[in-house]
Amino acid sequence: MSENQTSRRDFLRASVLTSALFGAEGALTGKEGRGVAGNGGEARNVILMVSDGMNHGALSLARQYQGLVMQEESNWMRLYRERPVVRCLAETFSANSCVTDSAAAASAWGGGRRVNNGVLNMLPEGGEVVPMHAKLQKAGKKTGLVTTATITHATPAGFAANVDSRADEGVIAQQYLDRRVDVLLGGGQKFFGEALRAAYEGAGYEVVTSRRALRRAKPEAMKPIFGVFAEGHLPFSIDRNHVEVIAEQVPTLAEMTEAALGRLKEAAGGFFLLVEGARIDHAGHANDAAASIHDQLAFDEAIGAVLAFVEAHPDTLLIVTTDHGCGGIQMNGVSADANQGFGPGLYNASHASFDRIRGFERSMEWMKQNGIDALSGEKLGVALRRFTGLELTVEEVKMAQGIKAGWQEIVKGRTGIGWTSGHHTGELVEFCAYGPGSGSFPAFVRNFEVHDLILKAFRMAM
Ligand SMILES: [Zn+2]
Repeated sequence: MSENQTSRRDFLRASVLTSALFGAEGALTGKEGRGVAGNGGEARNVILMVSDGMNHGALSLARQYQGLVMQEESNWMRLYRERPVVRCLAETFSANSCVTDSAAAASAWGGGRRVNNGVLNMLPEGGEVVPMHAKLQKAGKKTGLVTTATITHATPAGFAANVDSRADEGVIAQQYLDRRVDVLLGGGQKFFGEALRAAYEGAGYEVVTSRRALRRAKPEAMKPIFGVFAEGHLPFSIDRNHVEVIAEQVPTLAEMTEAALGRLKEAAGGFFLLVEGARIDHAGHANDAAASIHDQLAFDEAIGAVLAFVEAHPDTLLIVTTDHGCGGIQMNGVSADANQGFGPGLYNASHASFDRIRGFERSMEWMKQNGIDALSGEKLGVALRRFTGLELTVEEVKMAQGIKAGWQEIVKGRTGIGWTSGHHTGELVEFCAYGPGSGSFPAFVRNFEVHDLILKAFRMAM
C-alpha cells in the first residue's frame, strides 16, 4: 500500500470518528454545512495559518518548485487532495480601501470589524474593538501567536492588541503582557528591553531567545511562553537554509508551531493558534522570487506539522489562507528561442526556470546586509554567481549594480518570474477550512466574517 493510500485511509477513519464524536450536524447534507462529512460539530481548538501577502502566483510557484526541483508534494495541496476541505475565495478589503494592509486585515479576523489601513482594532468612527484573545480568555481558552515577523507585527497583533498605529510595536509588546497572551513566538527582541523581559518572567512566562532554548523548553510545564529569536523579523528562510549561524539561532516556522502546539494542547478549555508565514509578504514587497519560494516552502512545512496535530486531534478546526496578495508574482511562460513566435517550442523552456531559481542561495535582503550591493565590476559578478548561480555578461553586471531594479530585470529575464508592483494587491485570495465548523464557511467569504465563523465553531457567543 502506498503512503498516499495509507494516509487517505487514516484520514477517512479520522473523519468517521469526528462525525461519531461530534454528531451529524453539518455532516453529509447538514443544513448549515456545505455537505462535507465531519465538518459540523464543535471545535475545541482552532488553528489559523496565514501566508502573509501570498497571491495565487506565490502559492503556485512554491508548489511547482517543490514538485519539479524537490520531487515532493506540497502539504497544502495534499490536504486538498486527500481530505474533505471546504475551499473558498476570500475578499480582503479594509474599511477604507479595496487594498488592505496587514493591520486592517488582521483586525478583520481578530476583531470581526473592518478598520482603516494601518490601524489595529480601533474603529474609524472611534472606539475599540474587543480582540479575539480577550473573548477567548473569558471563555477559558488559551491563545498562541506564532510568526516569522516581529511578534508585535500587524498580523499577530490583530488578535490581541488595540492601537491607533501598527507602528506602535513597543505598546503592543506591553499589551501582550498586560493581557496575558499564552504563547508568543517570533522575532522582535528590540521591542522587549531588559525590564520588559523581566516583567514577562515575573508574570510567569518562560522566556527564550534562541532555537536551542526553545528546544529545551518543556511543554508539559504548561507555563506561558515568550520567545523572540532575532532583533527584528526572523531572517528569510532562503538565508536560514544556507547560512549555518542563522540556522543555529533561529527556529523554523514549523519548529515554533510544534512548540506552540505542545504548550497549548493540554489547555483545559481548548485554544486558538495563529501561525503566520510573514515574510512571503516581505519577499513580495522586495520582488525577490527565490525568497518568496523558500518562505512559502517553510510555511508549507508548518502546514505539515499542523496536519500531524490535526490528525491526532480531530476536534481542531484548521484554516489556511492569506490576508492579501503582494507584488503580483507570477511565472510567465518562457520559450527557448525568444524569436520563434508561436512555434512548437512555445513556453517549453519554463521548466528550466526552476533550475535557475534553484541556484539562488541568498535573499536580496541578505545581499544588501552583507555589502554585495556596494560591489561593482568583476567582484559583483563573482558574488552574484556565488549566491545565485547566474552567469552575467559585463553589461549585465553593470545593470545589476546596487541589487535594485536592474537586477530584478535580469532575474525576470532568466526565470520568467515577473511582478506587477512592490505593493499589496486587491485580488481575491485562497482560503480553506477543514474540521469541525468548516461547514459554515461560504464559498465566497469576506475577511471580517471569518471572526464570527471561528467563534461559531467554538460555540461561543459573538
Ligand atoms: Zn499582510
